[in-house]
Amino acid sequence: MCLVLILLTGTAAHAQFTIDHQVTIRPIRISDGTTTRGPSSDSSLRTAFGDAANKIWAQAGLDIYFLPLETVTSSTFNNVTSGTGINSISSLSSAGGLGQSTDIHVINLWFVNQINSSANILGVTLQSIPTDGTFTLTQNGIVIANIALTRNGGKSASDTIAHEIGHSLGLNHTAFGALGQLNLMSSTTYPPRGMPDIYPDGGEYDQLTQAQISQVRSVSFFVRPVTPFKYPPEIPILSNSQFSIVSGFRFTDTHAGEACTVEVSNDLKIWTSYFVYPPAVGGFEFLDPSSTNLSMRFYRVRIP
Ligand SMILES: [Zn+2]
Repeated sequence: MCLVLILLTGTAAHAQFTIDHQVTIRPIRISDGTTTRGPSSDSSLRTAFGDAANKIWAQAGLDIYFLPLETVTSSTFNNVTSGTGINSISSLSSAGGLGQSTDIHVINLWFVNQINSSANILGVTLQSIPTDGTFTLTQNGIVIANIALTRNGGKSASDTIAHEIGHSLGLNHTAFGALGQLNLMSSTTYPPRGMPDIYPDGGEYDQLTQAQISQVRSVSFFVRPVTPFKYPPEIPILSNSQFSIVSGFRFTDTHAGEACTVEVSNDLKIWTSYFVYPPAVGGFEFLDPSSTNLSMRFYRVRIP
């Protein structure tokens, strides 16, 4: 009796983007000594904002890299204003010891309670980069209000951080073709109803124009080159698994593109390479004749 299993099945990836630059964010939670604002963990940050930011900015070839969450205590900056004053975002950025990165090429992002005493302001960016090339950076920073995490019945406005990153990279609500509800930078954009509605999927929210993409990619101060990779990554598409005591175990992989490796295991712990398939347009058919002599074997497909 042969027990077989295929791991890592999935649906087709489409509309892949080549990611060749990276923006790094330092997320910092402000605590007033009693309540700490912002996501509870790095994984919560990713779920609430990070995954959406990466899907949106993939259109421009950008990876949004979040450093580990910092937490600082400050009653002054628990609530922040966008203007001037003791608790303005400008004062927050220039004050020392509030979690800022020592790397000036990193954008600092603070999670606070409220901005401008308004229940409707989700986020504010300290400084949009002028588009005339005369920019000199002395401060940077994004502030995200707690309402961005709690609105929509606890479902966050997941594109808020992506929108504020746009401001940090020189975009605003009208320039570079930002108008229109489906554009990331439109002030009337509705938050996507989760990842399935972010461009190029579903309702196609949070689009970027070619002019916006050109602008952000020109901001070398914050946008750093990285080794190119694909987003979203390709995944195997496995089907038609069959076992025959005559010929053995077989299945079909119909994903097109990169080379992949079929690995086998007897215990789901130790995996060994069984066969490496070269890049193919139409996928491949796998057959393991030796499986007729086995009581158990597990299979998985890895890309690359
Ligand atoms: Zn805005």
